Amino acid sequence: MNFLQNSENPDHLRLPSSCVLCDLGKGSGEEFDTENYVLFRGKSCYVVLNAFPYAAGHMMIVPYVHEGDFVNLDDGLLLESIDLSRVAVNTLKEIYNPEGFNFGANLGRAGGAAFGDHVHFHVVPRWLGDTNFMTTLAHTRVIPEALSQTYMRIREGFKSL
Ligand SMILES: [Zn+2]
Repeated sequence: MNFLQNSENPDHLRLPSSCVLCDLGKGSGEEFDTENYVLFRGKSCYVVLNAFPYAAGHMMIVPYVHEGDFVNLDDGLLLESIDLSRVAVNTLKEIYNPEGFNFGANLGRAGGAAFGDHVHFHVVPRWLGDTNFMTTLAHTRVIPEALSQTYMRIREGFKSL
């Protein structure tokens, strides 16, 4: 099997196939990140707003490495992903004051993963009664804020890192 290697980050193997999460991880520069709602770039993971959120502020913590099996993620990456998840939760608490959170990963297609071959973690703010009739009956989500507005608000929370 052939792998492409990112010259800027030689530790991160890249598959030549198209993977949205890899593409977002590869990009850099303020303009690219703003356009793609990338909030923060760490050593082994980046944080991005979900383009199809379940709620305003739905974030994903995504390893740069294209790995589909959770058990293969290394200790340093897992530590950083948990740490960034904590920042995400804290930032959402300060901005949106949610009543709870969903935090975790959908592993594999049967587990509901949209990108089953690239493990990532979700942080979703929740409010009592937020799954309303639109979600249940019409499979439609009502998000009270534009993604660009959410991005500008939440990015401030990661600026202190
Ligand atoms: Zn990938």
